[in-house]
Amino acid sequence: MKVLVLNSGSSSIKYQLFDTVEKSAIARGVAERIGLRGAMLSQTDAKGERATLSGEILDHQQAIRYIIALLIDPSRGVIKDMQEVDAIGHRVVHGGEKFAKSVLIDDEVLNELHACVDLAPLHNPHNIKGIEACRQLMPGTQNVAVFDTAFHLTMPKAAYIYGIPYILYKRHGIRRYGFHGTSHYYVSRRARDLMQVKIEEVNMITCHLGNGSSITAIKGGKSIDTSMGFTPTEGLIMGTRSGDVDTAAMLHVMRREDLDSREATTLLNKHSGLVGISGISSDMREIESEAAEGNARANLAIDVMTYRLKKYIAAYSGALGKVDALIFTGGIGENSSLVRKKSVMGMENFGFKLDEAANESGAGERLISTPDSPVKIYIIPTNEELVIAFDTERVLHGEL
Ligand code: ADP
Repeated sequence: MKVLVLNSGSSSIKYQLFDTVEKSAIARGVAERIGLRGAMLSQTDAKGERATLSGEILDHQQAIRYIIALLIDPSRGVIKDMQEVDAIGHRVVHGGEKFAKSVLIDDEVLNELHACVDLAPLHNPHNIKGIEACRQLMPGTQNVAVFDTAFHLTMPKAAYIYGIPYILYKRHGIRRYGFHGTSHYYVSRRARDLMQVKIEEVNMITCHLGNGSSITAIKGGKSIDTSMGFTPTEGLIMGTRSGDVDTAAMLHVMRREDLDSREATTLLNKHSGLVGISGISSDMREIESEAAEGNARANLAIDVMTYRLKKYIAAYSGALGKVDALIFTGGIGENSSLVRKKSVMGMENFGFKLDEAANESGAGERLISTPDSPVKIYIIPTNEELVIAFDTERVLHGEL
């Protein structure tokens, strides 16, 4: 089956055309700067050949028109016509409590997705734009929604209820939902394969560390706690997001700096985290290189980030009782030996014994714990598109 996987953001649409038989991408690309000057679409095929289209891309619908044009372009494309695409899988950030698994999108589901906009006003509207554009441009092709939140709906109430009046949960759905579900799901299943165990019999802690970061406690294959909450702002220190912060401190800041709720939301989501602490960048590579030059604020950003991560690893060890594997993924998790080292350093008594040489070398999926480490520590590159493509196939086959 050929599945077009779409990740529609505010000003970009990332996509992959996926062959579920070959388990590989036929093409991947991104439409960038939608609605802005200098919009561009670039696509790379399986051989690594790159094709680009530039011009005005006014909205998501036009972006998808361009994507279709490039996919079927007689000289630079990868398929003859869009009839070859069996289905479209859409990443949808927030499924609320309604969607515990991926679903076929019909009018009723689309209405439900609109109803979830209030829960994720920064993300869901763009996901919906992508879905609506596909329904209009490819009316004969089925669309499936795959939710970032779905994997975490197995969390027990003790993990998802906030310490605020319970009526706010009942009235407005204020609770912890968690995100990055497809990534945590994927790396946990890859770790199971590498360990050659049954998923029901093992407990894992998965760390997705990218521009956005979250950590999940997985018991017998099910998420029982995760660091992102009602929004992706909670939890770990991220590129531009604050992670956990005393809410009363933020209310104080709003009063002192005369910020309204929109400005405060921007401060927490765009100007905090690594960029806020370091004053340099949200990009870990830049921060690491400045830190190596002796920049104190860059070093502080790394310290705060890895200390927070270590605390979460310890907390989730407690939540799980026994941990069999710790997994690092995402741009930082896969590439930063410094972050991995600092976040498990001194946790030998918790069972985390890092093989420092393995941590510093190699590439791709690999084990980086010592042979006698009670917890196996892995690096596993994530593949959210693969999960979306396979979920789409399973939904169409009625297997989900
Ligand atoms: P996104 O969450 O947008 O998918 P990624 O998973 O690609 O982002 O992660 C981006 C982050 O990974 C950036 O902070 C980047 O600096 C970091 N990163 C990528 N390569 C390295 C590296 N070699 N060393 C340290 N950090 C890296």
